[in-house]
Amino acid sequence: MIKITFPDASVREYEKGITGLEIAESISRRLAQDALAVSVNGETWDLTRPIENDSDVNILKWEDEQGKHAYWHSSAHLMAEALQMLYPGIKFGIGPAIENGFYYDVDPGEGVVIKEADFPLIEKKMMELIAAKEDIKRKSVTKDDALKMFSEKDENYKVELINELEDGTITTYTQGVFTDLCRGPHVPNTSYIRAVKILSSAGAYWRGDEKRPQLTRLYGITFPKKKMLDEYLVLLEEAKKRDHRKVGKELQLFTFSQTVGSGLPLWLPKGTQLRLKLEDFLKKIQLEFDYQQVMTPHIGHKQLYVKSGHYAKYGDDSFKPIKTPEEGEEFLLRPMNCPHHCEITRLFLILIRIFHYDLLNLVRYTATNRVVSYMG
Ligand SMILES: [Zn+2]
Repeated sequence: MIKITFPDASVREYEKGITGLEIAESISRRLAQDALAVSVNGETWDLTRPIENDSDVNILKWEDEQGKHAYWHSSAHLMAEALQMLYPGIKFGIGPAIENGFYYDVDPGEGVVIKEADFPLIEKKMMELIAAKEDIKRKSVTKDDALKMFSEKDENYKVELINELEDGTITTYTQGVFTDLCRGPHVPNTSYIRAVKILSSAGAYWRGDEKRPQLTRLYGITFPKKKMLDEYLVLLEEAKKRDHRKVGKELQLFTFSQTVGSGLPLWLPKGTQLRLKLEDFLKKIQLEFDYQQVMTPHIGHKQLYVKSGHYAKYGDDSFKPIKTPEEGEEFLLRPMNCPHHCEITRLFLILIRIFHYDLLNLVRYTATNRVVSYMG
């Protein structure tokens, strides 16, 4: 028997080799239905993987980040399986879960293009594979076997990845006719996925390197309920209508000029009004909570950022020094305003003993890159 400790510190005994899914079933039917993955001693595992030792266990559901992650990662595999069936000879790069959904980078082959018009067909195939309820099976493989397996399939991107892995740590996941080099974890079978949508495609260089081949990145999202997908798609449409790039142009709030530099907004009168209103609102709230305002210069002595660590982090090529006629004097455009604020705090701490300045609520409010970054 092994001891399983739950997040509420309760302990239960189970047979050695029990799985996360069986543990969930022993607690409640509902939990077993909602379970997507299981955390074992802080590591996320498949629900079907046997637990051999005393462990801290937490059943992960949709509401848990890692549960959702396993769900979307499994969905990426599902999409890949559908693609493999629809586009013989397609090669696969990587296919992770992301914040909202998942993507897979694929190389459909010379002259083959996956267009938006093809998405419904891919979705249909995914739904067929869901209906087939294919088990998703984990397998540990040796490096040699993995290399052999993926070389035979001409999966040169996967072969490149395997070459960088350490022997003894390699696993594959298989469902139906599709096998992926993968660390997992995954949901137990394809029927866990209910509602699917392929959202968009984009070009993506293999390993982010523009000298390497350009692959097709297909983005998708899935949900355990059709209603959740419908709601998400409405939200996406609404967000599109409110996209600041669209609204900003239509309402003449700001504009951009290549002469000034792309990404640097030029606030027009209406936009400036709006921005000032937001700043007033911000100031009012800050005053309500007893914050005090300070202002600091946009540049600072190079030594300030050397001391703060920003200089080493941002690199000397990000911020060209502004030299003064004074020998050896160099200023930099500040990467952040915190070093300035630390300096105010330091100076005030000396004075505080005499003047009892209220330092606790010193606010970072200045016309700085930080403010600009959420205002503009
Ligand atoms: Zn995977």
